[in-house]
Amino acid sequence: VSRELHPHDTVIPLGRSAIGGRDFCVIAGPCAVETPDQLRATARAVKNGGAVALRAGAYKPRTSPYSFQGHGPDGLQLLSEAGREIGLPIVTEVMEIADVDLVAAHADIVQVGARNMQNFALLRALGRIGKPILLKRGFAARIEDLLLAAEYILAEGNDQVILCERGIRTFETAIRNTLDLAAVPYIKARTHLPVLVDPSHGTGIRDLVLPMSLAAAACGADGLLVEVHEDPAVAWSDGEQSLYPAQFDALMAKLGALLPIL
Ligand code: PEP
Ligand code: MN
Repeated sequence: VSRELHPHDTVIPLGRSAIGGRDFCVIAGPCAVETPDQLRATARAVKNGGAVALRAGAYKPRTSPYSFQGHGPDGLQLLSEAGREIGLPIVTEVMEIADVDLVAAHADIVQVGARNMQNFALLRALGRIGKPILLKRGFAARIEDLLLAAEYILAEGNDQVILCERGIRTFETAIRNTLDLAAVPYIKARTHLPVLVDPSHGTGIRDLVLPMSLAAAACGADGLLVEVHEDPAVAWSDGEQSLYPAQFDALMAKLGALLPIL
């Protein structure tokens, strides 16, 4: 992953856009695939707002085993249908080696969540598929741990890796996680891989998503992973941090004004 060995930025094609290089990419969508209507409405909202890909989980890593765990294969089916219908590539999480082939068959980018950042067997398996991997920083991981986790994927032959800063756990409890934005320019100076920021899980608070998104753009991130829900009040997971469609539009408008002057 080192820039010393590979000085040029890795650019990962994604639909009509690309992650890394010159573009600033916004990937958006609900935390989870809930219902066909929820997904379709949210997909339409993020597409209209200017997202380049649709995110949503069919396999959800929940703190409690009694919380909604995602629809699994049926969720993947709904998600890929929604993506095709709306004309957006899709990003979705895989949690287990046994599901890698199925998830990779549906996803344009396969996500590894914070909790699995050091699931080395899973990372190795993902190193052997021909799909880009979005690797999220573990909430107790140092930057070095993240870079070495990425190395597991590259070492197996898959160099299409995107890193994602999504906040780490600190002594601060007012905010869900502490979004480590200093990690962005630090990592970008040392690796050729693109770096996204997830201000949704990074803060857990809807009203902090806009300011932290602008900050992410200002510190050199290659894009964002943002949670948006057609009706966050009834979301099955992460409603408190999910943007209303109108807030997503406002975020995209502010980004549109900021990016040209950076
Ligand atoms: C997610 O993006 O849906 C998610 C579960 O994030 P994280 O793994 O960063 O908690
Ligand atoms: Mn979520």
